[in-house]
This record gives sequence, C-alpha cells and structure tokens, in this order.
Amino acid sequence: MSKFFADAEESFEESKFVIYGYPYDGTACFRKGTAKAPDAIREQSFNFETNLMELGVDLVDVPANDWGNIELGENQEENNSRIKSLVSEIISNNKFPIGLGGEHSLTPPVIEAMVEKYPNLNVLIMDAHLDFRDGYEGNHWSHASTTRRIFDLLGPNNIWLLGVRSASSTEVSEARASKLNYTESGWVDLREHLADMLDLFQGPLYLSLDMDVIDPAFAPGIGTPEPFGMTPYEVVQTINFVSDNLVGFDCVEVCPPFDNGNTSALAARLTRHLMGIVHRIRN
Ligand code: MN
Ligand code: MN
Repeated sequence: MSKFFADAEESFEESKFVIYGYPYDGTACFRKGTAKAPDAIREQSFNFETNLMELGVDLVDVPANDWGNIELGENQEENNSRIKSLVSEIISNNKFPIGLGGEHSLTPPVIEAMVEKYPNLNVLIMDAHLDFRDGYEGNHWSHASTTRRIFDLLGPNNIWLLGVRSASSTEVSEARASKLNYTESGWVDLREHLADMLDLFQGPLYLSLDMDVIDPAFAPGIGTPEPFGMTPYEVVQTINFVSDNLVGFDCVEVCPPFDNGNTSALAARLTRHLMGIVHRIRN
C-alpha cells in the first residue's frame, strides 16, 4: 500500500492542503471494509497525471501534505476527540483539511472543529441517504446519524443535502418537521437547487461527499449501494458551483473489498479536482 496520496509530499508547515485518513468501519451496518479505503484511495491516486487538464492546474504546483491515518480504537468518543484535535490543528494553521474515510461517522467531529473557527459555517452533504436517525442500534455516533449530529450543532439554516434517495419514513417526517433542506436525487434541475442553496448559505462551506451519492453503475465499491444516483460529472459540477466558498472537504464510504479499484480511483480523482479548483481560486 502507498504511504501517501500522490503529489502530497510537502511538509505540513509548507502545505496549503492537509490530507488525513480515517480508517474506520465500526458502525457500518451492511458491507464492512470501509476502513481500508484511505489506503486504497491513496494507492489509486497514483493512476493520474499531476496535471488536471480540465482546470489548467498542475498539482506539482499545489503544496499538499499527507498527514497519514488517524490512530483509532473502539471508543468512538476518543476517536472523535482525535479527529477534532487534528482538524483544529490543520485549520488553526490556515490549511484546508481533506478527510479520506472510512465511514461517514468521520464528519460530525470534523464539523465540531470547523465551527470553532468558522461560526457561520455551512455544510453541504452529498449522500444517497438522509443519515437523519437520532441513533442506530443504540449508537449516537453511527454513520446512519451523521446528518442528525451536524443538525444538532448547526440547526436547519446551514445544512443542505444533495442526491438523497433513501430514508426511513420516520427520518423523512422528522426531517420535514425540522425543516431540513434536502434535494432528492433524480430529474430535478441541479443548478436551480444549488442556486437556492447558495441563496440560503452565506460564508464558508464544508463539503462532505458520501461516495454512495454517485450511482452504483459508476461507483459500485460502496458499503451501502443505492441505485438512481448522480453521475460523477454532476459531482464535479457541484464542486465547481460551490468552490468559491469551500473551507474543508471529506470523501467517505468507499468500500475496497467490493471495489475493483475504480471507485477508489474516482474518489481520488474527485479529491484531486477539488484541490485543483480551490487552489486556482485562492492563488
Ligand atoms: Mn452517509
Ligand atoms: Mn450514504
């Protein structure tokens, strides 16, 4: 396995982007194996040219550091405090954090760290699932509760979900009663919904990309595959649309035991595109 994400060889101090891995699948309810994803995504990242042809940005010119994987145990509260302190360190040094999951339970402690620096933070979650259960199998920190935990922190006016197509009837009724903003997957005009979202959001934006938002035809190596999803290029368009405001990113839920390598490669390429466009805007 590769030790670092391709072209992320700069020191922490000199880097604009800091990549870290969250090799955890302790709450995964269907297919296990997401813990292997950070290293699988790193391995596949070497497939690509340093030059991002679509952006005119060469990643050799973009200083990035791969911090490695967070050391994790079975106690999620302890894991969460490690995640939070690492992300706090990254953003207090004015660097852009990029989390490679692992499962989606990564994101709530990341957001806890982010709101301390950005009190008016907005969060865009791209996910096939609403993840709005208050807990799952008794676990408050389940990956099925990611949106709910972030909602507890931010309330309804700073969260938007995109690409949703799976939720329990209780989740749907609670989401509606809570005025949670979400755009369902399907025939909707993506651009119109993104414009509505940006009307609501002012200021910094964190993007959490649960790879299962993408149709399993394109991204089959996923813990909980869900048909009728977005295309990879719609994800690229979404990243481009919100890129001015981005302050952090994570890419979660790739499941290498069910992947021939292409889903990890897609995760790596989307991450590289995001780094390229954020670099181009801030340079
Ligand atoms: Mn999720
Ligand atoms: Mn999901």
